[in-house]
Amino acid sequence: MSRALRVTRSASRLPTWVWARLLGVEQVVVEDVEFEEATGALVVSVRLRRRDRRQCGICRRRSPGYDAGDGRRRWRALDLGATRTYLEADAPRVHCRTHGVVVAAVPWARHGAGHSRAFDDTVAWLATRTSKSAVVALMRLAWRTVGAIITRVVADAEASADRLAGLTRIGIDEISHRRGQRYITVVVNHESGRLVWAAEGRSEATLERFFDALGPERSAVIELVSADGAEWIERVVRRRCTGATLCTDPFHVVAWATEALDAVRREVWNAARRSGETALAKDLKGARFALWKNPEDLSERQATKLAWIAATNEPLYRAYLLKEELRLVFALRGAEGRQLLDGWLSWARRCQIPAFVELARKVARNRPGIEATLSHGLSNARVEAVNTKIRLLTRIAFGFHSATAHRACHAQPGRSVPAAARAVSTHG
Ligand SMILES: [Zn+2]
Repeated sequence: MSRALRVTRSASRLPTWVWARLLGVEQVVVEDVEFEEATGALVVSVRLRRRDRRQCGICRRRSPGYDAGDGRRRWRALDLGATRTYLEADAPRVHCRTHGVVVAAVPWARHGAGHSRAFDDTVAWLATRTSKSAVVALMRLAWRTVGAIITRVVADAEASADRLAGLTRIGIDEISHRRGQRYITVVVNHESGRLVWAAEGRSEATLERFFDALGPERSAVIELVSADGAEWIERVVRRRCTGATLCTDPFHVVAWATEALDAVRREVWNAARRSGETALAKDLKGARFALWKNPEDLSERQATKLAWIAATNEPLYRAYLLKEELRLVFALRGAEGRQLLDGWLSWARRCQIPAFVELARKVARNRPGIEATLSHGLSNARVEAVNTKIRLLTRIAFGFHSATAHRACHAQPGRSVPAAARAVSTHG
C-alpha cells in the first residue's frame, strides 16, 4: 500500500466543510482527504448523513439494508486545480420493495455511475459546446466514456419529467447537419424554453410522429405553434392540431429580408466590377457587415460605411431601409406592428428592387402567420438557440450511434445559451 499524505492533518488546515464545498458535495460528511502518491490523485473520503442512508439507488425509497456490497468505491470528481480527484465511500446494498437488491443511492453521483454528478454534467455541457478532442483532453477521458456519460445525463433528464405534458405553446423547426445532407425536426416548449422532441428527417411523416406521441387530447390543447413558414410544417399542424394558431417566426422573416438585401448588394457589386469601378467594388464588398448588422450594434466605422452607401448607392440603401423597417414591424408588434406591416408591404411592392418585390410576395403569402406572431409575441428564438446546441451535439451523437444523445443538450438545468449563439446560427 502506498504512503499517503494526510492533507487534513499536515499540509492543510482547511476545515472539512471547505473540502465539501470545493467538491460540490455539501450534503455529505468529509471524513478525510489524502494525496495518494502512487496515482498522484486526491482522494476524499466521505460518508452519508444518517437521513440520506439506505435509500434505493433507483427510486430513492428508504429501504432495509442488505449487505456491504463490494465495499469501498471511488467516483471520479471534478479535478481540483490540475489534480485528479476521487470521492471514496462505502457502497452498501439495500433491499428495495420495487427494485430488489440494489446499491444504495449516493447524493453526489447518478445510480451506476463511476463519476460524480458535477463531473457528468460538466462533460455533457462541454460535449455540446466544444470539439471531441477538447472534451477528451480537458476531462482526461476516453471518448467512449464521454458517450456513456451523455447517455446517462439524458436518461436522467428524461426520467425526471414528461416533456410532452402541459404543452400549450410550441415552436417547430428543422435543422440541417452534415452540410445540409441530413435534417432533424425539433419541437421546443415556449413556456420552458426546452427541447421536448427531436427526430431525424424533415417531412410531414417525421412531424406526424411527434403528434402521435403527443396524442389527440394533448394536441387539442395546443394554442400557438411557431414555425419558420415551411409549408410541410403548416400542413401537419393544420391536420393534427386544429385548435392552434400558426405563427410565422419573426426571426425567419427578418432572415428572408437579410437574404434579399444581400442579393441586392451582390448585384450592385457585380455591376461595379463589370464597369471597371474596382475601388467602388472593393468598398461595397466591405459594406457587407454594415448592412447585415442591426443599426444599434454598428461600430463607428460600420456606421460611416452605411452613411457612404446612403450617399452613393441609392437602391442599396433603400434595400437596407426596407430590411430595417421589416425588423421594426416585429419590434413594435401589436396594432402598431400590423399597421407598419401594411405600409411596408405597399412600399416593398412598388420599390422596383426585384429581390424585395419578391420578398413582398412571400411576406404577403405568410401574412396570417406573421399577424398572429405580432398579436401573440411568439418567437422561435429559443428554438434557434436550442438548434445551435443540437448542431454541435449531432456531430457527437452520430459518433455514438445513439439517438437519445441528441437530446443531451437540454439535460443541464440552469445552463443558458449565450445570445451570440443565435446570431451565429443565422449565417452559419
Ligand atoms: Zn427502488
